[in-house]
Amino acid sequence: MDTIEVASGRREEIIDITTEVERLVARSGVQEGLCVVFVPHTTAAVTINENADPDVRADILKALRKAVPDTLDFAHGEGNSPAHVKATIVGASVTVPVALGRLKLGTWQGVQFCEFDGPRRRQVWVLVLD
Ligand code: ZN
Repeated sequence: MDTIEVASGRREEIIDITTEVERLVARSGVQEGLCVVFVPHTTAAVTINENADPDVRADILKALRKAVPDTLDFAHGEGNSPAHVKATIVGASVTVPVALGRLKLGTWQGVQFCEFDGPRRRQVWVLVLD
């Protein structure tokens, strides 16, 4: 298993990590299999979505803010419950097919790290299975 270090620069941010994940897939030597990308945090997540137009990332964050308002009467004393809820909605892992030694993604797809309580230094764990 390998680790990618991600440094988020804002409270909420979606960061494309496709290139870093691809590098680890290439280094693994696996030609056909699965790549598991796992985020070991409770206020960050990972998803697969458009990597071409950055407006899509902004719109995803906007919609999540609308769905999970900061003004709800949350109980968690740390004060970051919206980030916990968004992380649960988006999810802690994705699995991508590996074919011909590369991630088999759709034309417009990228692997996106989602920060909901930054800025922080984060880890992403990557496991390539054949
Ligand atoms: Zn918390």
